[in-house]
Amino acid sequence: MQTSFLDRLFDAGLLIDTGVDGLYGRGGRFEDVIVAFERLIDRVGGADGAEAMRFPPGMNRAFFEKSGYMKSFPQLAGTVHSFCGNELNHMSLLKCMEVGEEDWTKGQKATDIVLTPAACYPLYPTVARRGRIPMDGALFDLQSYCFRHEPSQDPARQQLFRMREYVCMGTEQHVTDFRQRWMDRGVKMMQDVGLDVTIDVANDPFFGRAGKMLANNQRDQNLKFELLIPITSVARPTACMSFNYHQDAFGAKWGLHLEDGRVAHTACVGFGLERIALALFHTHGLDVAAWPADVRNTLWG
Ligand code: AMP
Ligand code: ZN
Repeated sequence: MQTSFLDRLFDAGLLIDTGVDGLYGRGGRFEDVIVAFERLIDRVGGADGAEAMRFPPGMNRAFFEKSGYMKSFPQLAGTVHSFCGNELNHMSLLKCMEVGEEDWTKGQKATDIVLTPAACYPLYPTVARRGRIPMDGALFDLQSYCFRHEPSQDPARQQLFRMREYVCMGTEQHVTDFRQRWMDRGVKMMQDVGLDVTIDVANDPFFGRAGKMLANNQRDQNLKFELLIPITSVARPTACMSFNYHQDAFGAKWGLHLEDGRVAHTACVGFGLERIALALFHTHGLDVAAWPADVRNTLWG
């Protein structure tokens, strides 16, 4: 029987099994690749002068609610619940866990934190609070662990994974130029590390029947492109980067205004860091020392 890519990653110590599909530890050699690729991102994007911000993998629940995520992707969201009871409640909780018949988590209460679904979600309300955006635009550099409830044995579909993002706010022309620039850069970067790339229009897994319309709209208006690289299938390559143009939807929702009072347009470009590392391991083999010299040179030279 053929060993799956996931099992080979476990055997090589690159990913670490936790017993939950899509939730993995990372070995040192896996992390080295991510660190090196992030340095490459810094080299390519650094001169743009983006303002770096790092948010934790949990975000303010009120901002999450306002974002509308539950309308589009309720199936992917993760909320943080905690025990908020007294000593009596604690005793019945422990009893419940011991007996194991009832679900002990039923009594857990929602906290003010939800798991971050995409690195850019905490940014918009943060920038809105600062006041108006300069006419020549604003640029941010983000990285966060993100949660999506999509358990799978495909190592490229994880439940907690890292997304590096650049987010641009400004006029329509400014942010669409930004997105095109990163599409060109993304293709070049992947080629420089020996990966086989294509770019295609994409649509997100919007929930339910109403979601079909949102997905059609996203596709018809070219709001989202993805950079695809074969990982688990050549016929169905995996999205390793995405290039999103939100028009003025986020600007209007969060109250992002340019200095002249117009609503700002926004776009974000996301690198799926685990997926890029997996594409490298899949393409060049599990032994980094045996990767082609030019690829090693681009990453570590
Ligand atoms: P999205 O917001 O869906 O466009 O995601 C941004 C990027 O994160 C994608 O292009 C992928 O590279 C990566 N990504 C999305 N979902 C997952 C997942 N379940 N596991 C690993 N990487 C993911
Ligand atoms: Zn984003």
